[in-house]
Order: sequence, then structure tokens, then C-alpha cells
Amino acid sequence: MKAAVVHSFDRPLEIEELPIPSPEAGQVLVRIETSGLCHTDIHAARGEWPVKPSPPFIPGHEGVGIVERVGSGPAYGLEPGMRVALPWLGYACGVCRYCNSGRETLCPEQLNMGYAINGGFAEYAIGYARHVVRVPDGVDPADAAPLTCAGVTTYKAVKVSEADSSSLVAVYGAGGLGHMAIQYARITGASVVAVDPNPARLETALEIGAEHIVNPADEDPQAAIQRLGGADAAIVTAATPIAFEQAFRSLARGGRLVFVGLPAENHMRLPIFETVLGGLDLRGSIVGTRHDLEEVFELHRRGLTQVEYAERSLEDVNRAIEEVLDGSAPAPRLVFRMPSADLAASHGHVHSAVTV
Ligand SMILES: [Zn+2]
Ligand SMILES: [Zn+2]
Repeated sequence: MKAAVVHSFDRPLEIEELPIPSPEAGQVLVRIETSGLCHTDIHAARGEWPVKPSPPFIPGHEGVGIVERVGSGPAYGLEPGMRVALPWLGYACGVCRYCNSGRETLCPEQLNMGYAINGGFAEYAIGYARHVVRVPDGVDPADAAPLTCAGVTTYKAVKVSEADSSSLVAVYGAGGLGHMAIQYARITGASVVAVDPNPARLETALEIGAEHIVNPADEDPQAAIQRLGGADAAIVTAATPIAFEQAFRSLARGGRLVFVGLPAENHMRLPIFETVLGGLDLRGSIVGTRHDLEEVFELHRRGLTQVEYAERSLEDVNRAIEEVLDGSAPAPRLVFRMPSADLAASHGHVHSAVTV
């Protein structure tokens, strides 16, 4: 199988021919159709986080494809031919206090796709049957890929933000994650202000439901959002600590700052006085559970969300990474489309989204 492999944090990914892996007990082999490129994959490939993956490995935690083989042992209802998603939470123990209280994303035994487990930047990937999530009929695999991380992560963040119809929600970063956050916040009935330095992303933000936009290159987001009354919740998907600091200062009293983005630079300055007097609430939110992802797919199947993406071939993985980093990507999300996706397409699957 073809795969994009990280051999060293300071070198580009290499496209290689590797043997197709075999599923062990409790695992499934998935023939990948589509796989989204998340900023996390870039951090992984460059070893930019405090906990680093061990090369060689295959990134990708937005893989979507067809179950080809089921290993021995429990299959959790999966059968060959089913379409599934392979999310960041590739495995959790299932028995710890977190797994048993709806907080499996906090499981200390977890293994992550594209990090500890080889991910979706390949023609095949192995998933744990208990943790892959079925993609319902009617959801295009190219839409399903970004929903598998960008979607579920921001869907959960909006839940964590406790946004409701009377809230003003500020979304910092209107890229792959942010453009989904805007839509989930709108579904709660909240009013949304999107903050992003890229004018194209702000234009998309308006099209998908943001009522206000702020370009921090042109105006101070703190002042602009305080003029609107201050944000009841600010969800930060941007990968720079400056955005977190701006988001903090844009909160209304009693507001909630939800940390989602994971900048390579790990620290922000946080004023204690304003946090205490403003009764401010700071929360971290990491991806979402399998159940959250099922809800994300269901919302999409019902037509309540749209995914903005452009397709790339896996051979272009290094150029795609550059496009994300320099802001030249033509859509909030880039999705690698594997040759097998076109097989499925020729069997009557309608491909609906924009290809730029
Ligand atoms: Zn991701
Ligand atoms: Zn656990």
C-alpha cells in the first residue's frame, strides 16, 4: 500500500510502498477513501508537542474508508463493506474512571491515530473495532473526513462552552476547526463573531452563519468584541498563544474561554486579577467521544452543517502542509482522496462538495 511516512521530525514525509497491515483481535482493516489534513498532523510530523510520537509513523486522524477485514474477537457490530471513520481517539481502555463517566477522551491509557497508531495517510489503516465510528449513508466520505476531527472537536467545544440562544460566541481561527465551530455555535442559536487574519476565511465564516467578523490585522479583536457586549464564550482554535490572550480579553463578565487549538508555543500570559474579578471560566476541550462523533455525522446527514474542503492527492502531502502553514490553501480543510474513493464514487456515490 502507498503511505506517507514520517522518518524524522526535520525532514519532509516520504511516500512509500508498505505491506498492507493485518488486523489483530479486536481490530479492523480499513481501506482508506479520504483523509483530512489537520494542523495536529503537522505538529506530529515535526515533533512540536511536549509528548512526541516515535518515527517512523504514518500521520492522519481523519481517515474514512471501508472495512475490508475484521480481526478475530469482538467486532462491535462491524462487518466488511461498512464505511467507518478513524478518529484521534484510536483506543481507550474502557474500564477507567474516565472511560466509565463519558470522558473517554481523558483516558490515560488512550492511543491516538496518526500518533501512537499509524494513521490515515495511507491506502489502508488498522483501527480498533470498539473505537471506529460508522459513517451513515448519505454522508460523503470527503465530508466525513474533516468531521472526524475538525467536526467532533468543535462540536464538543461548543457543548463545553455552554453556548445557547442568548450567547455571543467568539470563534478565534476560522480554518478547518473554526469553520465547523461557527456552525455548531449557530445550531445552538448563539450569535457568532469569527476572528481570523485571512480575509478568505472570514468571507466563508459569513457564508456559514457568523454574524460578525474581525480581522486582527485590521482591528483589535478585544475592542471590537467588547463593543458587541463581550463574548459569553470564546472558542480558540487558532494555533498561536496571541489568539488565546486576545480571546481572554474579549470575554464578557462570567465568560468562558475554551482552549482547543494546540500551538507549538505552549504558554500564554493570563492576568489573575481580571480572571477573579470577571468570574471567568477557563476550560480545555480535547476532541470528542465516539458518541459525539455519531451526533456530528447525524447533524451532517440532516443537512445542518457543511464542510468546506479542497482535495489533494497523497503524493502532494508535503506541498499540502506548506499550503496550510502559509495560508495559501484554497479551503479551510485539505482532504487527501485515495484512489479507492473513486471506486466507491463510480458505484453511485455522489460527490457534492466544492473542489478548488
Ligand atoms: Zn485534528
Ligand atoms: Zn480508560
